[in-house]
Amino acid sequence: MATDFDTIAAISTPPGEGGIGIVRISGEDALSIADKLYRMKGKKLSQVDSHTIHYGHLIDPKTDQILDEVMVTVLKGPKTYTREDIVEINTHGGMLVINQVLQTILSQGARAAQPGEFTKRAFLNGRIDLSQAEAVMDVIESKTEASKSNAFNQLSGDLSAVIQSLRQEILNVLAQVEVNIDYPEYDEVEEMTSSLLMTEAEELLDQITSILSTAQQGRILREGLKTTIIGRPNVGKSSLLNRLLGEEKAIVTDIEGTTRDIVEDYVNVRGVPLKLIDTAGIRETDDAVEKIGVERSRQAIKEADLILFVLDQSQALNPTDHDLMKLTQDENRILVLNKSDLETAVSLEEIKDLAGNSPVISTSMTNQSGIDDLEEAIAQLFFQGETIEKDANYVSNTRHISLLKETQQSLEDVITGLEMGMPVDLVQIDMTHAWETLGEITGETMQDELLNELFSSFCLGK
Ligand code: GDP
Ligand code: ZN
Repeated sequence: MATDFDTIAAISTPPGEGGIGIVRISGEDALSIADKLYRMKGKKLSQVDSHTIHYGHLIDPKTDQILDEVMVTVLKGPKTYTREDIVEINTHGGMLVINQVLQTILSQGARAAQPGEFTKRAFLNGRIDLSQAEAVMDVIESKTEASKSNAFNQLSGDLSAVIQSLRQEILNVLAQVEVNIDYPEYDEVEEMTSSLLMTEAEELLDQITSILSTAQQGRILREGLKTTIIGRPNVGKSSLLNRLLGEEKAIVTDIEGTTRDIVEDYVNVRGVPLKLIDTAGIRETDDAVEKIGVERSRQAIKEADLILFVLDQSQALNPTDHDLMKLTQDENRILVLNKSDLETAVSLEEIKDLAGNSPVISTSMTNQSGIDDLEEAIAQLFFQGETIEKDANYVSNTRHISLLKETQQSLEDVITGLEMGMPVDLVQIDMTHAWETLGEITGETMQDELLNELFSSFCLGK
């Protein structure tokens, strides 16, 4: 347990009026400072058992004035979040009282914590590694259940374990290379070393590429699958949108005189968070494509991860349909053949032909049929039909992704270097670089400066 840190305190509950507020103190003096404020018939917090909760009053030691009636949790290190002694004071007053309590604690020798400093201590005291610290933030910010469980997995160290084993492999190779270099008198050593480096670099590259391939899903879980609904006027885009958004939200759309410009909506389709983009346009004009033209659709299409292309199957395909079909042919796309309750005027054969690999789903917004199939198709497209496994480990943090890409590059440099017959000691530099970059993910090879920057983006009290 690290003891060379001062004692810090902060309000850990979000700002605003709440039923209770929590002030957290962490560090060597947490208990003694709390004791200066705590009053309960001769009881001393520094003498109670760890992980217990205590009723009492808090007073300002300078004035003996009662601040609040509180419940105090005593958590003695090292089995705590920061590995230090922690005292958590549950006040039940409003922000004013909570602030008073914090100020009093600060006047007794604690320092106001920086944003993220509690988590930073957890990291510095070796309780969690950097990717886990970042996961703390992700858990707080995660938008859907699936992305929350992804963040929890990262918090429990799944990614760290993978990265650590990759680093160990690299270290083993580098050690082997060192040994070989120490015996230069054998002719075949140089060749052996090259082929060893080559095999290892290729294997590592494979592994990292496969970790990175989960990044796409990871981003989706985190930010939502950018989805846009396109189609010519009157095919049923608004109806589909409202259907996806649920009845409640549909009501808020076109109230006369309001200028609500809702551009982003989130819906959860079988655990896939959809971020519906450019929906304001669909709501406001009923002939979006004709008014804003195919040009604007092109923009929406470019931004989207998924396109729901709605067609009216009671009408023959017209040139706009064909234009949109072409425009979206290389995209992740689902064709929605709407109005299946009406007589069909299109050939399913022709549409399937035009659709290529895109799923074709028949729906009726009027009869509310085909919605299940559509949801299934969305899930299929992005998770190969598997419901998102709770323990799937998706890399979703952008910092991790860019470091993994950097590692990938170093390994590719190793391979091309060897192919070009570069001397082993030069190739070794790239291999070492791969080891360093991976270490930055878990924070093992991280500079102080970067560390501070990272933790300062955390919210206060965490
Ligand atoms: P948009 O212009 O593409 O947004 O189409 P809307 O959702 O506004 O729908 C245009 C018209 O088609 C409305 O009168 C809807 O009630 C109707 N409509 C939408 N879906 C269906 C459907 O599945 N069957 C039938 N019969 N009518 C539908
Ligand atoms: Zn519409």
